[in-house]
Amino acid sequence: MNLAHLLLRHARLTPERAAIFHGTSLCATYGQWAERSAGLALRLRQAGLLPGERILLFLHNHPRYLELLWACWWAGLVVVPVNAKLHPREVEWIVENAQARWGFVSAELAPEPLIGLERQIDIQSAECDALLAPLADAFSVAVSERAPDDVAWLFYTSGTTGRPKGVMITHRNLMTMGLTYFIDVDPVGAGDAIVYGAPMSHGAGIYAIPHVMAGARHVVPLSGGVDAAELFELGWQMGALTTFAAPTIVKRLVDHVEQAQIGVGAVARAFKTIVYGGAPMYVADIERALRLMGPRFVQIYGQGETPMVATALSRQQLGDTAHPRYLARIASVGVAQTPVQLRIADAQGCELGLGEIGEVLVKGDSVMAGYWRNPEATAAALREGWLFTGDVGCLDADGFLTLKDRSKDLIISGGSNIYPREVEELLLTLPGVAEVAVVGAPDPEWGELVVAFVVAKPGALLSPELLDQHCLAQMARFKRPKRYLFLSELPKNNYGKVLKTVLRERLAADLA
Ligand code: AMP
Repeated sequence: MNLAHLLLRHARLTPERAAIFHGTSLCATYGQWAERSAGLALRLRQAGLLPGERILLFLHNHPRYLELLWACWWAGLVVVPVNAKLHPREVEWIVENAQARWGFVSAELAPEPLIGLERQIDIQSAECDALLAPLADAFSVAVSERAPDDVAWLFYTSGTTGRPKGVMITHRNLMTMGLTYFIDVDPVGAGDAIVYGAPMSHGAGIYAIPHVMAGARHVVPLSGGVDAAELFELGWQMGALTTFAAPTIVKRLVDHVEQAQIGVGAVARAFKTIVYGGAPMYVADIERALRLMGPRFVQIYGQGETPMVATALSRQQLGDTAHPRYLARIASVGVAQTPVQLRIADAQGCELGLGEIGEVLVKGDSVMAGYWRNPEATAAALREGWLFTGDVGCLDADGFLTLKDRSKDLIISGGSNIYPREVEELLLTLPGVAEVAVVGAPDPEWGELVVAFVVAKPGALLSPELLDQHCLAQMARFKRPKRYLFLSELPKNNYGKVLKTVLRERLAADLA
């Protein structure tokens, strides 16, 4: 089993079909993509890189990402995708930990040679062009034999608690993710196109797999990121696009629709499907997104250790407004995706009943093989095949999973558990609140105090008193924030996740 066969299949079947675009310019047909990837695979092999060895990809979103990915898999190599926001010193730590031999980089991200790499190739250089020079007979380059449990993607966790860990994602894991996409997320046809706005080093990039399976088009915006106006323009020119977006990016798209007064019909011509996930989507935000952009959303919940596959909340479920539990459903992350089982467990790993809150466990073919050269962390995260996600939530009788928070974000004040998400959801229902993040601040009397960081909408006048009244009217007193801090924006990582650790550090520095 090797993911490279997915490309080969379409290269044989429909070599002339358009595959990769940079903006609206065609970069490669399926045939050309295979010719380039086979060319690089052969040259990597000739250079002595053996199946199972690691290749680092430290680049901005770029059409070459796709050619490099498939070339590495063709040669049986393991891709180490690196977050483009990391500092070169952090990347060097990953190079060393993964013992990566070669690295393909965007020159602006790594202007100096990264210590530890045998060879560093700038993806925009003549050297890279030569390595990717097409082979006339791509099919003559054998695809490396890989077992289902061989690693394909060594993904480093964001490392908000200590050093990042390398998550070993296998060919089987990614094949499962790809096939599951058609069942639980969205059917894809050859006429469809995926656009890579979110970083390709993360979930957005591996969504290339179902789109290669379907022989669809792949579009990398010229900006390499999320510029709402650019994405809409691309959609209108190329035909309705599919994209993966963290909730903060969805919000940006919705803001653009509102500001530019784009009607739902025009939205439908730009976007077929927007898959959101990676961080909590608040009810007020998804309701607004559905109202302004129409029924084109699907939610997924996953994590690096079970990439893009744990639960999904379908387009139909998001549209079923007449359902008696509609609001609870859209606040949930949906039901288990087809290849996995879910379980809620207590601290000892014993299964809890419906409605009881505990740690979310996931089991199935999407779950990682373990952490790279880290048996202790592997043993803690994987027990009897169950992945301990570190997320806290509960299941209802219909199988919908509602996430409360990461266990480390839970606030314990005066002995009571407070789930920041519940407080955040409530504050967001107040007009004038654009964004909010709730964290616990150490307190000698209560253990922790609830603190809310709030971003106001432009022109909105918010005061702690107003926010407090809003909470008092609808929520138990002990849960309400005891302190409000106003910011112009929330700190977020490259994947759009709010960095609560940074907020907690700010509070600690403030209190000291
Ligand atoms: P990462 O491993 O960087 O992809 O982060 C995964 C974490 O993001 C999960 O463990 C959850 O805490 C969070 N997450 C992912 N998807 C969702 C979602 N749909 N809703 C809420 N949180 C999510």
